[in-house]
Amino acid sequence: MNGNIVLEAENLKKHYEVRRGAFKAPAVVKALDGASFNLERGKTLAVVGESGCGKSTLARLVTLIEEPTSGVMKIDGVDLASLSAAERRKYHAKVQIVFQDPYGSLNPRQKIGHALEEPLLVNTDTPKVERERLAREMLDLVGLRPEHYDRYPHMFSGGQRQRIAVARALMLEPEILVLDEPVSALDVSIQAQILNLLAELQERMNLAYLFISHDLSVVHHIADEVMVMYLGVPVESGNRETIFNNPKHPYTEALLSATPVADPFKEKKRIVLTGELPSPMNPPSGCTFHPRCPKMIDICPKEVPMPRQVGESLTACHVAKP
Ligand code: ADP
Ligand code: MG
Repeated sequence: MNGNIVLEAENLKKHYEVRRGAFKAPAVVKALDGASFNLERGKTLAVVGESGCGKSTLARLVTLIEEPTSGVMKIDGVDLASLSAAERRKYHAKVQIVFQDPYGSLNPRQKIGHALEEPLLVNTDTPKVERERLAREMLDLVGLRPEHYDRYPHMFSGGQRQRIAVARALMLEPEILVLDEPVSALDVSIQAQILNLLAELQERMNLAYLFISHDLSVVHHIADEVMVMYLGVPVESGNRETIFNNPKHPYTEALLSATPVADPFKEKKRIVLTGELPSPMNPPSGCTFHPRCPKMIDICPKEVPMPRQVGESLTACHVAKP
């Protein structure tokens, strides 16, 4: 096994049953329907796709908030399904999450210092003096000041709160940080500051990031690898250069054409996707992207495309060519 791989996910699925009234059978929502990927220490895997494609569901599985319906997840080579509840708790600390909403993620009545110490209080027997020292040190590390220790969340801006959320997530020295749309609620000018901070912290602490965004432009600088999702399924995965400069899946091409980041000298035709995003409760047959795909051919509605190597990327598409 590659010792740099901290997390391996194989064919992860999460299906939810939803009730549709007393006389109808419950429907199944395939929120995530087969994601496979590796996360490497010190690297960022960006997960990109439209709202509803299963990104947050994936985040909840990776952070062990929910259990997968099926599939395998290994952390440091250990299959999580093989663990007892007590052992599982130990693995919980290795994966932490930062959510999108910088206003909802902090208790308004709790001082920032105490919010940072809480994970240590709950999970370790670090003495109070040491907890406080670590909290102040962490404030400094995320670009806040030690005297912020005694302040309350309402005294901070959105960007500062996101720094606090990152600080809190790092208190237990995790190996993996899941970032679920961490800058989507922030002004563009503030976004860049938080992204820079994340890059610095990654380097310093050798963190693996699972960076989730609906916006390709946000991940342009921070991603090492990119996984593009559509209706619960990864449709294309590859390194950053490949996904941004030489994508193979028509969906990635469409996302990219709507993203103002790529080479400004490259002629770009905006690909407009027709039709709405279908419901994962009732997905289209074959390739689920076919009703919106500008390159659809006969086979697309009939057969589910399996991921295959096309050029530099792993692509689930009947049409893609190297
Ligand atoms: P994203 O984060 O990419 O916007 P989500 O993972 O939140 O997507 O949701 C994926 C799909 O799963 C959506 O159609 C959503 O409505 C559905 N879903 C998410 N959580 C649940 C749940 N607990 N019960 C039923 N459906 C859910
Ligand atoms: Mg989400």
